[in-house]
Amino acid sequence: MLHPFKNQTFIDFSIEKNVAAMNTTLAAVEKQFCQKYPLVIGGERYETGDLLPTINPAQTDQVLGSFHRADEKLADKAIAAAWKAFASWSKVSARDRAEYLLAAAAEMRRRKMEFMSWMVFEAGKSWFEADADVSEAIDFLEFYAREAIRYGELQPLTPSPLPDEVNEAFFIPLGVGIVIPPWNFPLAIMAGMTSAAIAAGNCVVLKPSSESPLIAYRFFELMESLSLPPGVINFLPASGGKTGDFLVSHPQTRFIAFTGSKAVGLHINELAAKTAPGQKWIKRVVAEMGGKDTIIVDASADLDSAADGVVASAFGYQGQKCSACSRLVAEEKIYDRLLEKIVERCRKITVGPTREQKNTMGPVISRSAYESILNYIEIGKKEGKLITGGGKDEKAGNGFFIQPTIIGGVDPKARISCEEIFGPVLAVVRARDFSQLMEIANNTEYGLTGSIYSRNRAHIEQARRDFHVGNLYINRKCTGALVDVHPFGGFNMSGTDSKAGGREYLLLFLQSKAVAEKF
Ligand code: NAP
Ligand code: MG
Repeated sequence: MLHPFKNQTFIDFSIEKNVAAMNTTLAAVEKQFCQKYPLVIGGERYETGDLLPTINPAQTDQVLGSFHRADEKLADKAIAAAWKAFASWSKVSARDRAEYLLAAAAEMRRRKMEFMSWMVFEAGKSWFEADADVSEAIDFLEFYAREAIRYGELQPLTPSPLPDEVNEAFFIPLGVGIVIPPWNFPLAIMAGMTSAAIAAGNCVVLKPSSESPLIAYRFFELMESLSLPPGVINFLPASGGKTGDFLVSHPQTRFIAFTGSKAVGLHINELAAKTAPGQKWIKRVVAEMGGKDTIIVDASADLDSAADGVVASAFGYQGQKCSACSRLVAEEKIYDRLLEKIVERCRKITVGPTREQKNTMGPVISRSAYESILNYIEIGKKEGKLITGGGKDEKAGNGFFIQPTIIGGVDPKARISCEEIFGPVLAVVRARDFSQLMEIANNTEYGLTGSIYSRNRAHIEQARRDFHVGNLYINRKCTGALVDVHPFGGFNMSGTDSKAGGREYLLLFLQSKAVAEKF
């Protein structure tokens, strides 16, 4: 019997020994920069010469490594290799499949700082955020291992009323899927989607994000080192825009597990809905997409606690979480006082390369993200009043650094109030009363996370019912969901409410078979 699932603890960096160990690990990882990495299909390594460099967003001239990218021929080969592996992997018992995940979790725990270091360099995560990301990856492995065992059991049925019949129902895997993760939880989401799919008995083609292939490769390598049979995970760096369509529309693709932007998610959903010649199934699409996450604060709220929650939710990981608060709606009466407290906290944020522990806010991920966010800030300056920040942070270094930025007095229908910016930009909207707070909270096409700060029971109850988000938080920040504590996923254009880290998640990778036998 496995012990019950429990969440991985974070590293205590108030202990000097842990700080020293992290600095040593960062230095050791630095020595491994600039290597070339193959793609891996059915256990075979391939080099195409079409190299994708991955860079340090905190120091844009620093290349961390280069990846041979797949073309359509290799993508086709990867799907075939996954089906070949599926023939035997699907017959491995759930318990034995789960053992690979448990071993991976143990290994990741042992090498936690190494995985964190890669995330500091490739994704610009602060030490704290990198720790949270690896911890979540460990949680997914531990949790989905247990879930695979649970779903591997015969399922409860009412005994047949027919006297000469026995019945059973059990789950079987779907087949071969394409896993398409984003870069913003480069380890946790990538490893979570991959491990859930394979724990359920499927085989996958893992197409990592082009912004974070190195972290994905480190995970793939770890799974390989545990003697996971070749072809169960095929590591296929490729351009999403070019090769993604081929993978998604391939007639042998049975399912697609996607997390990323609304635009790409909708595109994948459309493409997957089209039946290709020779295709024998309706493809299943799991699509977790963007958000425009809102914190509402009414006049009864504890303003210090609200200010803490807003700043943590808006600027943690540079605002690049799907759950990040990018919009604050405050009741008129407390608007100015709350904003003052938020600005005061915001000024204490240190922006710079997160290789240094003291820098809690790093760069944004890429040049295109940098330009898009700066452009939104300019739009914001026209749509509202700049309160703090307002552009590049050039003194932070030669990277994609942006100041934590707050724009006040924003109209609820303004672009910066409704569109996902995915950076350290907070739009602040003023509301007359509670009913207007609620109305604005639900005025976008998204429905991922949200918080209410209030001491008014009636308001809290109304928000519980009417604030239409997959993850609602009351008197706390709207980021930091924990596996099996806060199953995570959104409504409307935020996705299919797949609830990663929840008890129904594995069902997305399974189908149920019922058998009746007459004797
Ligand atoms: P993205 O641009 O949509 O990319 C996500 C993945 O899709 C990448 O691997 C990308 O590959 C791939 N891709 C792009 N075009 C494709 C195509 N035509 N066919 C198949 N795959 C394709 O998103 P991102 O910038 O990586 O991530 C940020 C977004 O993810 C935000 O919108 C955020 O809110 C969302 N997100 C949502 C959740 C959630 O749980 N709801 C969690 C995390 C992030 P390339 O890198 O090669 O282009
Ligand atoms: Mg992208």
